[in-house]
Amino acid sequence: MTTKKITRVDGSERAPQASTFVPTAEAKAQAGKYRMYAIILWVLAFVAQIGAMAILFKKDPEIDLTTGTRAWLIVILLIDLIFLVAGSFFWKKANRLDPASKKETVKFFLQNQLGVIVAAIVFLPVVILAFIKKEYLVGAIAALFMVGGGLLSADYSPPSVEEYTRQSAYVQELMGADQVFWTKSGGKYHLYEDCQYLKRSSELFVGGTIADAYANNSKIKPDISSLCSACEKRCAKDKGWSDDHLKQVKDKALSAVQDAIQGTE
Ligand SMILES: [Zn+2]
Repeated sequence: MTTKKITRVDGSERAPQASTFVPTAEAKAQAGKYRMYAIILWVLAFVAQIGAMAILFKKDPEIDLTTGTRAWLIVILLIDLIFLVAGSFFWKKANRLDPASKKETVKFFLQNQLGVIVAAIVFLPVVILAFIKKEYLVGAIAALFMVGGGLLSADYSPPSVEEYTRQSAYVQELMGADQVFWTKSGGKYHLYEDCQYLKRSSELFVGGTIADAYANNSKIKPDISSLCSACEKRCAKDKGWSDDHLKQVKDKALSAVQDAIQGTE
């Protein structure tokens, strides 16, 4: 019997370990709370719509509403709009804490753009009824609110499990840990606390992960372009990397995660 000698080769060519992003229990609980607020606000928007429709139902199509009633209707529609947009605000916040996966295309779309669908639900019936009842001004305002509310409810840079995972892997590759710095209103996250772009900010968030940055600051787009390029260059310089080498490391880190994610399907 021979003892086999096992030599572990720590290949520097090996891709970084890609573990898919999973929100913390705390983040998930917070997301659940925000989703509940969103749903309550959306239900209230729907109730406001029913209020407006109740007034319109009673209207004779051939007799104009009084100015007072018409103004009252518009106020109710405005309340409908406020509830819709407030609900969408919380909904989008929740998605940043607990994002959907791009692998499930339909769920990804629905989860991120649910506010747009809700905009139609809380406005389209009243728009139709207003036109049936020949209340054109109210109908036009409701239609305008539906479109405006829908645009405000859409998520133009929806967060995804995949983006969080990719960026976390890249930052770990650069810095050894997923730990970034960001400010309350800046649109970037940083690798160094003393980055030149952080000097003038009065409030700095430290010690969080990329996921924390996205959850805390809605101005940071969940995209790799949100990584401060000055910090990125500084890290490469510290490591003695050329621009080309940095690009290689970046491409490798980002695509390795992409492969790992696709491989888990
Ligand atoms: Zn920076």
